[in-house]
Amino acid sequence: MKIAVASGKGGTGKTTVAVNLALSLGDCTLVDCDVEEPNTNVFLNIELEQVEELNLPVPKIDKEKCTLCGKCSEFCQYNALVTLPKEVLLFPELCHGCGGCYLVCEGGAISEQKRPIGVINRGAGKGIMYFQGLLNIGEPMATPLIAALKDKVEDEKSVIFDSPPGCACSFIETVRDCDHCILVTEPTPFGMYDLKLAVAVVKELKVPFSVVINKDGVGDDRVERYCEDEGIPVIMKIPYDTEIAKLYSQGIPFVLEKKGWRKKFRDLLEVIQR
Ligand code: SF4
Ligand code: SF4
Repeated sequence: MKIAVASGKGGTGKTTVAVNLALSLGDCTLVDCDVEEPNTNVFLNIELEQVEELNLPVPKIDKEKCTLCGKCSEFCQYNALVTLPKEVLLFPELCHGCGGCYLVCEGGAISEQKRPIGVINRGAGKGIMYFQGLLNIGEPMATPLIAALKDKVEDEKSVIFDSPPGCACSFIETVRDCDHCILVTEPTPFGMYDLKLAVAVVKELKVPFSVVINKDGVGDDRVERYCEDEGIPVIMKIPYDTEIAKLYSQGIPFVLEKKGWRKKFRDLLEVIQR
């Protein structure tokens, strides 16, 4: 089963839920898809090895063969190519590597070159196979790295994807083909606002979903009332607890220290599978 742990808002406890769930299940795969800032391994401390450097194919233009016809830049939907009177300019960071410009260039002036965008790291420990992507600094294209990261995962085991925050392309790439999405939120107006956005996106993606309320007791009951009104199952509440916060600040997943929580997380899987 592929489970995405996501949230519309950063700082709600998404990684806390993903790590504690993975440790409770054991014999599973955990994937940190927050490729701009992967931090799941802070809580696992697993030694990592680089398994792949990911390259995007981008066009290389042969000035000798180019007739400046402009078909390539006309075709490119991402404005990565601009035909000027004396040359065709390429903005590699905007290129999505679709390959369309190669096809429309009748003069055969375009060939392919590779542009590195990030790396995939892997490690194993504590009963977990762990993968993370790390995007190069300043690199805007996160989704190809997330897609490559997801391709690395074997399907036989339970797989938990720790999604990037927000509801944009990276979130969608992570969640879109999952069997279930756990949306982690907090009972505050900000949590509520971003939860509604995340719910709208997962509904659009047609991925079954449920809600975990973290820091329960810190705000009010509007999130719960919203979930009740919308028929969204709230499958767990994690209390606002200074002991959990202290463990978090020390990089210790709280299922390792607080009794009864491993079972609660294992039970989540059964609830999700029903
Ligand atoms: S389509 Fe080919 S020939 Fe035309 S401007 Fe682009 S690179 Fe040059
Ligand atoms: S490969 Fe696709 S995205 Fe990149 S420059 Fe060519 S047409 Fe644009």
